[in-house]
Amino acid sequence: MELLSATLARVKPSPTIAVTTKAAELKAAGRDIIGLGAGEPDFDTPQNVKDAAKAAIDAGKTKYTAVDGIPELKQAICEKFKRDNGLNYAPSQISVGTGGKQILYNALMATMNPGEEVLIPAPYWVSYPDMVLLEDDFKLTPEALEAAITPKTKWFIFNSPSNPTGAGYSHAELKGLTDVLMRHPHVWVMSDDMYEHLAYDGFEFCTPAQVEPRLYDRTLTVNGVSKAYAMTGWRIGYAGGPEKLIGAMRKIQSQSTSNPCSISQWAAVEALNGTQDYIAPNNEMFVRRRNLVVSMLNEIDGMTCPTPEGAFYVYPSIAGLIGKTSAAGTKITNDEVFATALLEETGVAVVFGAAFGLSPNFRVSYATSDAALKEACTRIQTFCAGLT
Ligand code: PLP
Repeated sequence: MELLSATLARVKPSPTIAVTTKAAELKAAGRDIIGLGAGEPDFDTPQNVKDAAKAAIDAGKTKYTAVDGIPELKQAICEKFKRDNGLNYAPSQISVGTGGKQILYNALMATMNPGEEVLIPAPYWVSYPDMVLLEDDFKLTPEALEAAITPKTKWFIFNSPSNPTGAGYSHAELKGLTDVLMRHPHVWVMSDDMYEHLAYDGFEFCTPAQVEPRLYDRTLTVNGVSKAYAMTGWRIGYAGGPEKLIGAMRKIQSQSTSNPCSISQWAAVEALNGTQDYIAPNNEMFVRRRNLVVSMLNEIDGMTCPTPEGAFYVYPSIAGLIGKTSAAGTKITNDEVFATALLEETGVAVVFGAAFGLSPNFRVSYATSDAALKEACTRIQTFCAGLT
């Protein structure tokens, strides 16, 4: 009898984690590697948040908690939704999980049946399962959304600012999509707002239930503390949505992981209720880095790199480089070959576009030091100049 399940055979390991692991292996073997693959801020968790976690340990808050979150955190999340998004959720409409990833997983596990469909605009975060459409500036148009909806569509997953492109939808662009969704009452909306606070050049973040309040009853608004508060390792994500869905997600979590880490929950209370003052200076740093990377990559013949509204990624196209051959003799037939050759020949680790469902592109995470970014972009320029 086969040990591993048939379901597992359909699941791919995360390509972003694979790139980070390969880069770490080469580094351990003594190679000079610059990693632009990881999806996490390079700065430390704020001191007030760390202090809250230490206080929680000292106060003995180290036991099981309610499955989907302590009341204090649910209250802080309700206030956050009201303050930042104009959304009214009661604590009974809030779910807290071990990262946004568990929240998304719980919601899909709790709702999907065989034969039903999920719409995921490409390029998409690698952990969303496969399914496609796309359009200009990496943004989905209302026409493409309308064309993709079928009677079997259960969820539309929306992510702005986006991983991997950094593209953010304006209020008007999102309204175009919510107008389509209003015509299809059987479609639920999963809005992944993980990069809400990482928005630049005056971009105003908005979320579907805010733009179209009539979608509130069929929207799950997902967010978390990983990115804005540099808390990726603490593993706290959350969502607001209809009680029936939140209850079903609680049931899944109660039989899988139970509550998220008690100490991390208390840290997240402080992240949401405490000062938000460090977000703006962090964003200034990110804008500087984004501008540096976009301008250096656009100097390369055959590469085009749009300037995105948020997150800490850019997603350049290498359409003009396909078919060329590297100095070491590798023919660049697609973005995966490009990323592998770049890593092997120059030591720069990026994630190839096919992993996110849109080629020929690659993703650069600019959540690393200015010096490392400058050096990495110089190496990419040299590598591309050597293509013949
Ligand atoms: N959603 C998007 C678009 C992401 O990029 C990530 C992390 O990379 C997550 C959700 C999950 O974040 P976490 O599980 O750390 O809360």
